[in-house]
Amino acid sequence: MKNFFIVVPCYNEEAVLNETTRQLSELIKGLLSKGKIASGKILYVDDGSKDSTWDIIELQASKCPMIAGLKLAHNVGHQQALWAGLESVADIASATVTIDADLQDDVEVIETMVDRFNEGIDVIYGVREERKTDSAFKKYTALAFYKLMQLMGSEVVYNHADFRLLSQRALKALISFPERNLFLRGMVNLIGYPSCKVFYNRKERFAGETKYPLSKMFNFALDGITSFSVKPLRWITASGFLFILVSIGVIIYAIYEHFLGKTSPGWTSLLVSLWFIGGSLLVAMGIVGEYIGKIYKEVKRRPRFIEEQRLNF
Ligand code: UDP
Ligand code: MG
Repeated sequence: MKNFFIVVPCYNEEAVLNETTRQLSELIKGLLSKGKIASGKILYVDDGSKDSTWDIIELQASKCPMIAGLKLAHNVGHQQALWAGLESVADIASATVTIDADLQDDVEVIETMVDRFNEGIDVIYGVREERKTDSAFKKYTALAFYKLMQLMGSEVVYNHADFRLLSQRALKALISFPERNLFLRGMVNLIGYPSCKVFYNRKERFAGETKYPLSKMFNFALDGITSFSVKPLRWITASGFLFILVSIGVIIYAIYEHFLGKTSPGWTSLLVSLWFIGGSLLVAMGIVGEYIGKIYKEVKRRPRFIEEQRLNF
């Protein structure tokens, strides 16, 4: 492999950066000496940190040409920061690995990723074997999230976060998606080039605190669903029809009660219209939703296809 890049998003990571650089540059040196890569760089993307993250990156870059830095003017979030880094190396990197700064993902398996890449695989997912170090809460909310995504019809690789290798053509395919709402692990899944998984155990954060509090996790999950699926809109229509179906039952029941004379005046008409109007409104909203879903797919302007090979052109 010619140019290898490791892209690392950093937000207030002053506590971990020296160790991260130590481990990653160690790894790159190893890969170089084994001849698995011809050149390797670490690209830190400073996502508008408020601490001394950028100063550390600057210092490291001045000492070592292997370290590159990209400073974003303000905090845009993990996904966008990753994108910034990836986009900036797409023309020069033969392959990129993205990894978090906090060393929770196993640096060692990057070598396995590089091996797989050298065997001709384009997309290599780092997959967590187990979640021993996560709290029960994080474990189950994460599990619920994957299940929900599946239910919504967008396949994401189970237990895979944003630790992965992309070949240059896979990366170029990825950045040909012009959408602004990023959910990278869902998007990578749409590329379609040869892919495989490598497994590792996720560790404790090396130092510092998580930059993903519950509120951000929730938003992330919601983004994941709403940037990939129009199913919730379909569900409105479905529940509308269900309501109308119920309303037929209610109508029969109410009229029956009415003729038995057991009801107070106005009850029958109120009950019947309540269910029926409710159902019709939901169906109407669902129909509007269908159109919104279409608009949504149009404005994303995703590529219609991604070429893999041509023969005898
Ligand atoms: N991060 C970022 N911008 C943000 C939040 C996080 O670039 O707004 C980076 C952070 O520095 C880390 C990675 O995204 O390298 C994952 O964040 P963290 O480890 O805090 O998340 P967790 O592992 O707890 O889910
Ligand atoms: Mg982390």
